[in-house]
Amino acid sequence: MATTTDRPAHLRSLSPTTAEVLGEYEIADDNAVRAAVARARAATEGWTGLGFRGRRARLLAWKHTIAAGLEELAALIAAETGKPVGDAVLEVMLAVEHLHWAARNAGRVLRRRRVRSGLLAANQAATLEYRPLGVVGAIGPWNYPVYTPLGSVTFALAAGNAVVFKPSEHTPGTGAWLGAAWARAVPDQPVLQIVIGAAETGAALCRSGVDKVAFTGSAATARRVLAACAETLTPVVVEGGGKDAMIVAEDADLAAAARAAAFGGFGNAGQTCAGVERVYVVRGVYQDFLARLSALAQAAEPGAREPAAYGPMTTPAQIDIVRRHVEDAVARGAQAVVGGPASVRPPYVFPVILTEVPEESPAMTDETFGPVLVVNPVDSLDEAVSRANASRYGLAASVFSADRRTATAVARRLRTGAASINSVLGFAAVPSLPFGGVGDSGFGRVHGADGLREFSRAQSLTRQRFAPPLDLMRLDRDPAVLARARKLFLLRHAGRAR
Ligand code: NAD
Repeated sequence: MATTTDRPAHLRSLSPTTAEVLGEYEIADDNAVRAAVARARAATEGWTGLGFRGRRARLLAWKHTIAAGLEELAALIAAETGKPVGDAVLEVMLAVEHLHWAARNAGRVLRRRRVRSGLLAANQAATLEYRPLGVVGAIGPWNYPVYTPLGSVTFALAAGNAVVFKPSEHTPGTGAWLGAAWARAVPDQPVLQIVIGAAETGAALCRSGVDKVAFTGSAATARRVLAACAETLTPVVVEGGGKDAMIVAEDADLAAAARAAAFGGFGNAGQTCAGVERVYVVRGVYQDFLARLSALAQAAEPGAREPAAYGPMTTPAQIDIVRRHVEDAVARGAQAVVGGPASVRPPYVFPVILTEVPEESPAMTDETFGPVLVVNPVDSLDEAVSRANASRYGLAASVFSADRRTATAVARRLRTGAASINSVLGFAAVPSLPFGGVGDSGFGRVHGADGLREFSRAQSLTRQRFAPPLDLMRLDRDPAVLARARKLFLLRHAGRAR
């Protein structure tokens, strides 16, 4: 969606399809961001004081409000992003599933537990507890304006933090809706604050003294966020972009693989961080796969209303990137099997399938984030793995093969945070699995137990139960005690290797 700032202090949310004004929001400047962080911080004590059970009840109340507001929220997402309402419904359903899991599992994952003290500290009772960080600043993208930021927001709240959330400037209404839903469902705990604005508001949040920044967006912006956060040593989790590969083996179910490639590549107009951008197909089934995928691509039309397969590109800037990648690939000798440069018809981009794209071209190395699939043949699964891994991104990938062992072995060799076998985005609906990338796709994890720990600080506690039999931690250490300890040490560690 295009967004303009007509007066300095306001931001307009515009429909990407019709340019209609959907809403107007006050931009949070430095002072407003600091005030939101102060409100959040003031609320943390009450929130942590509730304990896991109290927070769980309130998170579930928020969940209920979101789920009950499904139609309204989905309509808003669809209006702001241009995606079909059905896709928006699916997005909310997935986000709510993760919220449900986080609310119900935070206590189990993060509660205080006794751990073994070990031989040297047998006199200590040792406990480990995951404590909240304080206030988390969450910065979100526009492509999945509920599912994606809630991966941080929900897990940070469930871990006992307050959150200041800055939605994308392209989806401010969706962010404001989530904040209002919290205020309605949990009026006594103002631990979710929303600040609206573009880069300046995000930068202000990085400088605001929050205890961690959860950033979801492009690698280029992530670098700016990290630089700003470096000034105050504010830790950051980065959920970045991707250039995800699909690998199709000779024995794969080609119909299923083609369907998955079409959904992963063209769904949401290709604006999915963990969508499919590159497909490597073993040569023996390459033509067959390409024919099946081409048929699906030719049948998929973007449009403003269902049954359109997907909607318009959400931002004009993204259209330019897609055009550049397709034109460049064709100029380098790639074959446009379906569509081509003429498929870019703003605000829509019709499906494009390119083959024989040189691996060093931007369509192979950079995130295209549009309904463009590059399908290249490979001689073997080994070649597919090495090409898939030759990317600075590493978010997710998929492998299609009828042989479970082969598929699993291939998946485990992929340098990604997630991999799906015989499906795309299989992990997205599994709440207990963490999500995150490597390289330019970022670091840190949302979702699952790791996602809860991401917004926690491990605190180690020891309580001395009795005086140590061999007391070495004193200035007037007895040399005889050290000699005995030394003997024991050598017996334990320098004897037989085991
Ligand atoms: P973006 O990087 O342009 O913006 C992301 C957010 O950062 C926005 O809220 C923006 O206002 C804010 N921002 C911009 N400049 C900033 C600055 N200097 N300091 C602080 N904040 C700043 O990304 P986008 O175009 O909104 O989203 C698309 C990108 O997000 C794609 O790369 C996509 O792959 C990625 N993404 C990743 C995931 C994931 O979970 N890994 C999920 C969805 C999207």
